[in-house]
Amino acid sequence: MPTIQNAIGGKLVTSVSTRTQPVYNPATGEAIATLPLSTNDEINAAVAAAKAAQPAWGNTTPMKRARVMFKFKELLEKHADELASLISLEHGKVHDDALGELARGIDCVDFACGIPQLLKGEFSRNVGPSIDSYSDRQPLGVVAGITPFNFPAMVPMWMYPLAIACGNAFILKPSERDPSAPMFAYQLLMDAGLPAGVMNVIHGDKEAVDAILDHPDIKAVSFVGSTPIAEYVYRRGTTAGKRMQALGGAKNHMIVMPDADMDQAADALMGAGYGSAGERCMAISVAVPVGEKTADALIARLKPRVEALKIGPATDKDAQMGPIVSKAQRDKIVGYIDAGVEAGAELVVDGRGFSLQGYENGFFVGGTLFDHVKPDMKIYREEIFGPVLSVVRAQSYQDAVDLIHGHEYANGTAIFTRDGDAAREFADKIEVGMVGINVPIPVPVAYHSFGGWKRSLFGDHSIYGPEGVHFYTRLKTVTTRWPAGIKGGAEFSFPSQK
Ligand code: NAD
Repeated sequence: MPTIQNAIGGKLVTSVSTRTQPVYNPATGEAIATLPLSTNDEINAAVAAAKAAQPAWGNTTPMKRARVMFKFKELLEKHADELASLISLEHGKVHDDALGELARGIDCVDFACGIPQLLKGEFSRNVGPSIDSYSDRQPLGVVAGITPFNFPAMVPMWMYPLAIACGNAFILKPSERDPSAPMFAYQLLMDAGLPAGVMNVIHGDKEAVDAILDHPDIKAVSFVGSTPIAEYVYRRGTTAGKRMQALGGAKNHMIVMPDADMDQAADALMGAGYGSAGERCMAISVAVPVGEKTADALIARLKPRVEALKIGPATDKDAQMGPIVSKAQRDKIVGYIDAGVEAGAELVVDGRGFSLQGYENGFFVGGTLFDHVKPDMKIYREEIFGPVLSVVRAQSYQDAVDLIHGHEYANGTAIFTRDGDAAREFADKIEVGMVGINVPIPVPVAYHSFGGWKRSLFGDHSIYGPEGVHFYTRLKTVTTRWPAGIKGGAEFSFPSQK
């Protein structure tokens, strides 16, 4: 069985750690690789390599840094199928979905190609007599990223292409569960001409994460994962004096107004609720139809669609949804379905006990639909992160909005309606970071920025796009006087325009 390697200082290195864990193919349940849980010394070696490489890279012209990104983008596109297959093999998502994830990651590389323009500062002539002023955004030095399992290629690409284009060196700690896609992308980035040490990849668990958070030479950390870990990472990193952004979990609601096109709303819920087996932070996990008639019409459309979901391994071209990433996560989802039934929610479609001939040991759960879910139920309050859609019936638009505002998470939300007034009111007033109007998964494009509100994001910066440029750089403002030899004697009052 292959052992996944670290990448330190431009070389692939086998970890000396005695702690390891298996990487699984979730479709078959087989262990397919061994992942090292790297030691503190290995983190220190990666940081030292990054620190040594960064000054020269930070001094390389933005145009040359952009050229590496152009080449990287070209290589990613050329190898998209291989990369998507690796994503599917270890994550379980179907091939088209893996290609879609990769395409959104490549968009972020595309954005990073514009770095000369993005780093252009501001200049003011004559801010005082013979005095000019300009602003400059400079790299931070060594920065790090810690990423979740559900987008093993895209989420790291929310971070390192832009961080590196800004002139930083990067340490990536990918998810333990699907490490091969980020390693493949690392290799392509090196093939694109990135100098050794600018990008490093270290595999590991909490021990590696803590070492990153405590390391004095790492200046900023981007984290994406579940809310309890995001909060922990944010607090530990800020205590160590780092700039932090930590994106957490979600429970995304979609309001369906009585005037919505019900077929369109049902189709949107199918893709947003069950695509990638619900393992997306922007998945819709709660549908909120307004009025009993709307709810009945929606359930009537959803039930046959959920029952007809084609579930299979990623190698099955007809499959719409693959397995769950791990056995533990599959068992957790089944536990949530049990809890929903015990709490009295109506189980309209039951995905427990789903089995596929030839893949009996795979980590599958069938599509599951609950109706009459109440806000105090565990299946409503907590993030399930599986193919389970809960319908919470609201009596009015205001009830639906109050429901959303009562939840601890505020990552994404959507409304389906043909009423422009309601849509505008919703976009304006809803307290959620990313909002869709007749768009169920409103993930911002690479030249906007991504981030939730409340307990879905800890920190002041959203990720990628213009906010990413700010996160990975710091502002310097320079004031110059030329000619230098103007004499006016010592000035003791605060400089001002008299
Ligand atoms: P996770 O929190 O278990 O793991 C994320 C990262 O944290 C991994 O690299 C992991 O090694 C590390 N980690 C895990 N436990 C740790 C601990 N005790 N101490 C320090 N580090 C630890 O998340 P996951 O299961 O890989 O991913 C799913 C979660 O990520 C969901 O909650 C999902 O909503 C969230 N997510 C959020 C976004 C977003 O943009 N807001 C995007 C994708 C995923």
